[in-house]
Amino acid sequence: MENCIFCKISKKEIPRKTIYENDNFFSMSDVNPKIEGHSLVISKKHFKTMLDLPSSLGQELLDCIKKTTIKLIDEKKAEGFNLVNNNFENAGQMVPHFHIHILPRKKEDGFKLL
Ligand code: AMP
Ligand code: ZN
Repeated sequence: MENCIFCKISKKEIPRKTIYENDNFFSMSDVNPKIEGHSLVISKKHFKTMLDLPSSLGQELLDCIKKTTIKLIDEKKAEGFNLVNNNFENAGQMVPHFHIHILPRKKEDGFKLL
């Protein structure tokens, strides 16, 4: 996808500070963090939503989520975390390239998710 920001970051046409990566996914910090340590797990290939992601990539996706989250918990001294995945504009998806938000949480951080 030519004009997709996450495709450009995936191909390193735009530099990224990778937290963790495997063959099909990478993670990095969100440029506009909603909370300290807010990070994104992003597919290297362009899939618009979770529905386009082949199920065969599930294991690698989980690997990238878990390894990234463990690093964040360690580095940020987080005491919990939320995973968020917006699909389609009407559900708040702003970047139409599959990604999962990791939100590290601390006791009394005041962040309201639901
Ligand atoms: P969503 O609303 O689920 O599509 O979230 C897209 C997220 O991508 C937002 O939290 C943005 O802050 C984040 N984002 C957009 N552009 C970049 C970028 N160049 N680097 C890191 N995060 C980005
Ligand atoms: Zn893309």
